[in-house]
Amino acid sequence: MKLKFLGAAKTVTGSKTLVELWDNTRVLLDCGMYQGLGKDTYTLNSETPIDPKTLSAIVLSHAHIDHSGLIPKFVKDGFEGKIFATEATFALCEIMLQDSAFIQQADVRYSNKRKNRTGAAAYEPIYNNSDVEQALSQFEIIKENEKFKVAEGVEATFIPNGHILGSAAIYLEIDEIKEQSTILYTGDIGRYNTALIKDPECPPQADIVICESTYGDRLHDRTLDAEQELLSAVIHTIQEKKGKLIIPAFSLGRTQEIVFTLNKLDLYGLLPNVKIFVDSPLAVDATQITKYFSHLLNPEVKRFIASRPDPFGFNKLKYVKKKEDSQKINDSKEPCIIISASGMADAGRVKHHIYHAIENPKNTILFVGYAEPLSLGGKLQNGDQTVTIFGDEKKVLAEIKVISSMSAHGDFKEMMDYLKCQNPEKVSAMYLVHGEYKVQKAFHKKLKNLGFQKVFIPNLEETFVPTIH
Ligand SMILES: [Zn+2]
Repeated sequence: MKLKFLGAAKTVTGSKTLVELWDNTRVLLDCGMYQGLGKDTYTLNSETPIDPKTLSAIVLSHAHIDHSGLIPKFVKDGFEGKIFATEATFALCEIMLQDSAFIQQADVRYSNKRKNRTGAAAYEPIYNNSDVEQALSQFEIIKENEKFKVAEGVEATFIPNGHILGSAAIYLEIDEIKEQSTILYTGDIGRYNTALIKDPECPPQADIVICESTYGDRLHDRTLDAEQELLSAVIHTIQEKKGKLIIPAFSLGRTQEIVFTLNKLDLYGLLPNVKIFVDSPLAVDATQITKYFSHLLNPEVKRFIASRPDPFGFNKLKYVKKKEDSQKINDSKEPCIIISASGMADAGRVKHHIYHAIENPKNTILFVGYAEPLSLGGKLQNGDQTVTIFGDEKKVLAEIKVISSMSAHGDFKEMMDYLKCQNPEKVSAMYLVHGEYKVQKAFHKKLKNLGFQKVFIPNLEETFVPTIH
């Protein structure tokens, strides 16, 4: 068996790991898009690192675009096999992938307008809505914790990992003529005791572990209560500064978690009288889907739903679908809270909100999740004093805040807790993906201390032939 790392190698986005058997059976674990890598992003996404026609199947850990976003591109380039996913992942992919095609069209139109002026070659969208339709028709829905056949000699099980609705680690059982082996592909490792999603489940012992490493060098501050932090940001911005509180958030997961938390704060009577906008058409649909799959949520939310039907709707809150309504919020001078995608602030409506709000110190931009260092969100979190948005240089005068304890990714302690189900002596090799290199080096050290002996940090397109002991 060979492993080839086709994405998220020494970087956080673009997850794609290829498992190849002696007989050319080729299974791709995740098919993610690169995000927030500046000018290289488009090239990385448009040049497929493998001929999709040669793939036997794709197994998908969750619906986030950095894991699912290139599936329609692979289908467009000739992939005809099945795409295995949980039911909630499929439901979310239906909206996420259509949205991705839509965003690309809009972004390409915008960039080409600028390119026309300079005479540079025009971009093309990587895929369109009909490629998405075709991709969705190739999905096969699989129940969590039930073994299924992926291809000849490859069986898999989805084991919920607490990251977002429908997310799961992928546990592969591989049967080759001379060797049987098991692989645990962690996907994005979620957290314990979060606002919405059930805790990660313990995966069985594996010979090979392919582990994410986003926060491999970081501990989320447990002394700071995320709810309290969010409330302080609201009071400070809305009541004291009378400004806008802009929260860039993934439409899926983060947005529902923030809305649920604000709903609870409002029930306690702690929120000031303020309008709250969820400005993302995708978030509206993602919220509906989250409600539909309420059995995947944690016991607290279930109890909440039992007494109040809507954990994601209350008086002060308004979901914004139409573009014109979104523009009206930009023009308004009233204090308000805006929750809008994308989380890295690199695309979507939130970029417009930031564009209009960033040069006013009354406003606050509050980050609640990971952002690539080169993305707009990454630059703001890094403390850059000026940033370029839509080609215009903007002074960063608004306050920039981060609540890392709201992240959907486990910190290194939580990832190590997750890995406690694995006896390090029985793991023949571990590969770190989905992390920045300097973070991975720090995590590598910690894993060695835990007793994992062979831990590798693959380069992009590097191939390994692990020996199972
Ligand atoms: Zn994710």
